[in-house]
This record gives sequence, structure tokens and C-alpha cells, in this order.
Amino acid sequence: MACAALRACFKHPETCILTTFADLGLSPELLKAVDAAGYTEPTPIQAEAIPATLMMKDLIGIAQTGTGKTASFVLPMIDVLASGRRRALMPRSLILEPTRELAAQVAENFEKYGKNHDLKMALLIGGVQMGDQVKALNEGVDVLIATPGRLMDLFERGKILLNGCDLLVIDEADRMLDMGFIPDIEFICEKLPEQRQTLLFSATMPPPIEKLAKKFLDNPKRIEVSRRASTNENITAFKIPVKSREKRSTLRWLLNNDLVETAIIFANRKTTVRELNKSLQRHGFSSGEIHGDIDQASRNKELQRFKDGEINILVASDVAARGLDIKGVSHVFNFDTPWHPDDYVHRIGRTGRAGNKGRAFTFVAPEDGEAIENVEKLTGSAINIFGKDDVRVDLPKAAQKKASAPQKKSVPEQDDSDSEPDEKPKRGGRRKSAEAPAEERKPARSSRNADRGSDDRKADSRGRSRRREPEDDPVPAGEWNGPQPGFLNVGFD
Ligand code: AMP
Repeated sequence: MACAALRACFKHPETCILTTFADLGLSPELLKAVDAAGYTEPTPIQAEAIPATLMMKDLIGIAQTGTGKTASFVLPMIDVLASGRRRALMPRSLILEPTRELAAQVAENFEKYGKNHDLKMALLIGGVQMGDQVKALNEGVDVLIATPGRLMDLFERGKILLNGCDLLVIDEADRMLDMGFIPDIEFICEKLPEQRQTLLFSATMPPPIEKLAKKFLDNPKRIEVSRRASTNENITAFKIPVKSREKRSTLRWLLNNDLVETAIIFANRKTTVRELNKSLQRHGFSSGEIHGDIDQASRNKELQRFKDGEINILVASDVAARGLDIKGVSHVFNFDTPWHPDDYVHRIGRTGRAGNKGRAFTFVAPEDGEAIENVEKLTGSAINIFGKDDVRVDLPKAAQKKASAPQKKSVPEQDDSDSEPDEKPKRGGRRKSAEAPAEERKPARSSRNADRGSDDRKADSRGRSRRREPEDDPVPAGEWNGPQPGFLNVGFD
């Protein structure tokens, strides 16, 4: 363990503290839960935040998801709350999260780490029946995990009193800012006792968050575990200059040829999420979607299908996918460059988690030009352009193979058009050879889907069905047997 800790120090000399969980002052019950979770050593933010929180200090943690920041506040909170009594309607601590998914994730963390403690927790999130939440509050809770909207709602109805709450966590503060929650947070802070402990976590510290911290935190310890808005070193990131109309075919090519196991694909608009998911399904990919227009129960169901491997591609909007902690996501695709550069860091942070390697691709169409400039300004470096050296299949060999391989049948044009669904497909027209759809070969996708019979019929949104031809069978991951797509030439000699 000492060697691993030393390695961590070399990697993060700025936060190097040779330490183990036992050194941090956590109780034996908590150490047992940490051990059961399989953690052998604290992450840099945990090494710094846990002792400070146990000493009741205010804290600013500048850390992105994937750094272990949730445990950095959940673990010490459990010990802090272990002594003391619950009272009806008066939660003893409050954690504010920007989205329901994040709130649910933090609740899961409490369950995991708090299993050896007698603590009561309530989750106050929108999209869920209020009755059970109010009942839990009536019985008294130690930890209340809430999204600002639902909390304000209950507070205004007099169903909750905040004056017994002397530990506040504001998580993902920069996201709260993006979502317009800062006035709500200020309101909530004013209702809490003045003498309290406040922990604020944020991936970036834009001026309004600095201002919020100055107003509501008392002499906070500041912990920054990585460069401002920096991205994780386990993630290999590329940008791909692409025409808007070629985004879908480019995506399919990559899904088929970049050894994709599981992928989250982000789009800026809900309509794009919906349409892209339909298009991927039409092409035989095993995909699902989450975005803000989908009710909470269906979002949870879709997430569970993704976590269980029932689908291996999730098309998502920023709000729905914010902070999701899903193990082993091999790829993130930004179908659109995000409008807010902070979202770039959050999006690609869904891969390369917990020490795993991940790949992130950002599509840059002419209309994404300004957005990518802002991303690169924020991360402080230019993102590499994806090119021949980065391709994960053997292109020359694939080309030879193709020359000797029988010609594949073209897939009906209407199914793979990059055009929006309301644009009419060109009947009987063939694609330009440069964009010929190598990706129409079926993908390396979850085995359940790949196992479907070759005569499986699929209906598209216009009610047509197409027979799955034998040539549609999945190509083993990494085998590339189509022409070289045009986008690989962009930016290369
Ligand atoms: P977070 O940054 O809170 O989203 O956590 C990212 C992931 O790291 C989660 O899956 C945690 O279970 C995991 N994790 C947290 N702390 C540790 C640790 N000390 N060692 C290994 N994994 C951890």
C-alpha cells in the first residue's frame, strides 16, 4: 500500500499526503464500510477534506466528479452525525444537488458507507411522490439530500424547518449556477442557522460561485485537487472536424471501429437526443436515451438498463447525465460541442473513472466553432484532432481485406441519412463514396443484441421494416471493413 500511495504522490505532488483511511480519523465502523467498498487508500481530495470536515471546518473543494469527492464529504458526515438526536421536521444536515440523478447517487453513497451506523436519510427530489418524503421528514432525519426546487417547495408549504440543520453541503455549485439555482441556494442558506459548517464543491470557481462562498462560508479551507477545469489524464480526448450532415455517419463509424464497449453520447438539444437515439436503433445499435422531458421513473429505468448492460449506448442531455457515476464507460461522444465549456469537462468525465482509461470524441461542425474555442480556453490546451495515427483498427490491412471481400449491399438510404427526419431522403440515391457507410456494418454491441437472429425485422419511425441481411451481422470489435471515412483526412497531410 505504501508503494501505491507513493505513486499517487508522484502523480499529484501538489496534494501529496502519505496516508491511509485509518490515518484520517474515521471511526472503526466507517473504516469497515470503506474496506467493504474495496478502497485501499484515500484519493487526494479525501485525504484533505476528511480531516478538515471532522474538525468542523468550512471547506471549498475544487474537484470534478471521478476524483472521489462524494466520499470526501459523505464519510466524515457520517461520523459527525453519529452522535446527536433526530427531531421531527428538522433535518440535522442538508446536501444540495443540482439534479435528481446526482441526489440519488449521493443517497446510494450514504447507504453504502453508513451501513454500520444508525442514520436516517431522506431524499427530496422532484418527479417523485411527495407523500413518502413528507412522512420521512415527520419521523426525523439526520441527512436530507435535496434538489433546490423541491426543497423550496416543501419549505414554503411549512413541511420542513431548516433551523436545526447545522451542516450544509452545496455540491456541483457551478452546475447550480448554470441551472439558475443560485437565488434558491442563497434563500436556503439564509434559513439555516448562522453557526453551521458549510462545504462547497465545484469543478470550477466562476466569479458568482466565489461570491457565494465569500458570503456564506466562514474562513474555508480551500482544496484544489487538479488544475482549474482540467481534464482527467486517463481520458484520451479528440476533436473531429465534421460537416453537420455527416455527424451521424461519423458517429456510427466510430461506434463500429473504436473498440467501443459502452458509450454515452451527449447532444445539446433534447430533440437531437431523441432523434439520434431513434436513428441509432434503426441502425441496429443497442441504445437508449435520457433527457429532461422524460419522467424520472423512465430515466431511472433507462439508466438501469445501461448499467446492467442491456443497452450499451446511452444518448443523453447534459442535465440528465450530469455527474452520473457509471462504472466502465469506455467512450464519451460529444455529438455537439457543448455550449457551456464547463459541460465539456463534466461530459468527458463520465469516462476514465476510478483509474480506468477512456476515450472522448468531440464533433466540431462549423456551427460548433465558437464553442470549441471556449472549451480549449477553459481547459488551457488545444484538443488533438483525431487522425490516422489514432485509429484503433489496422487501416491498410482493412483496406486489403475489403478489396478481396465481396461487395456489401447498400443499406436503404432512408435509414442512415444524416438529415433531420423531416428532410426527405433521396430515393434510390447512392452516397458519395467518401462517406460510404462503413459504419453500416453492424456494431460491436452488447451481446444480447448481437445475438438477435439475422432475420430479425426492425421497423423504422416511418413504419417501414427492413430485413436484416446476413451481411448485417456484427463485425468483431476492431475489425474495420469499410472504406476510409472522409473525416480521417481532415487536418492531415
Ligand atoms: P466521485 O468523484 O465521488 O463521483 O467518485 C468516483 C468513483 O470513485 C466512485 O465510483 C467511487 O465509488 C470511487 N471511489 C471513491 N473513493 C475511492 C477510493 N478511495 N478508492 C477507489 N475508488 C474510490
